Amino acid sequence: MELWFNERFRPAIYQSGAVVLGLLVIIPMFAADQTINSSSPQVRQIFVRSAKLRKLLDEVKPYGYVDVPITQDLSSTDASQGYSKPKSTPRGMVYDVHVSQGSDIFVENVIAHELLHAALRHERLGSGSGTILRGRELSANDLAAMQGLIMSLTNCYQDAIIDRRMAKLGFNPQLLQDDEKSTLIAEANVVPRTSLYKRDATLMLYCLSIRLRKFEMDEIYTAYKSWYPELAQDVQTVSNTVGPDLCDTEESCFKKMLALRKAVGLEGEVKFINPTTNRKE
Ligand SMILES: [Zn+2]
Repeated sequence: MELWFNERFRPAIYQSGAVVLGLLVIIPMFAADQTINSSSPQVRQIFVRSAKLRKLLDEVKPYGYVDVPITQDLSSTDASQGYSKPKSTPRGMVYDVHVSQGSDIFVENVIAHELLHAALRHERLGSGSGTILRGRELSANDLAAMQGLIMSLTNCYQDAIIDRRMAKLGFNPQLLQDDEKSTLIAEANVVPRTSLYKRDATLMLYCLSIRLRKFEMDEIYTAYKSWYPELAQDVQTVSNTVGPDLCDTEESCFKKMLALRKAVGLEGEVKFINPTTNRKE
């Protein structure tokens, strides 16, 4: 287990002279390895090699987090490449990152993506969490589809913005979309064929269409053709409705997300907390 320190919890430690004396001995031992808290040898190796990832972690750390632990506990067959969330702990807020298995370059890009979620959260460009209004009336299948829809709504524009930032920082976000494409094609014929899952697919593919990618969306539409032949057309309709621009402020990102919610017919089904007013909309 590694230790790293930042300005937020140093003052509390300094309150005890004995602890300070102890740290004077311990700090040099950990000095070379202070930047990364991960139990995964691969993740630690990636940080040793990737200066741009170390730099990104250094930028994220001061965003009110005492620690950014990175756990590699998702399997390569998992639908999720990674996820992250802030967690309250006795010593302060921790930004908890979980990433998938894969090649070094893939995992490096997943970590960069998750760290940039912390940056966007700091800039308040997130959409917060959604509440399902009539959850009790839904079957287990539809509830799962609804949760997928909320996840896509909250991440759609954030992920597209993250891609552009990653590219500017010299990362390769297209690798993540290649992986996503393979997962979507593999799952195309096993998803439940309900109308809510159709909306889930429409939203997912619209969100993928606005990300940085090297492939044509037709490769995925073809895989869905047998049960959802209108998919490409429905994605295009959503795209035309919300317009081509991304967003760059707390307010514009929330408005854009609400427009997307309307475009996929979820207005009146799901509410989100407006980050500016703190009211549910
Ligand atoms: Zn994301």
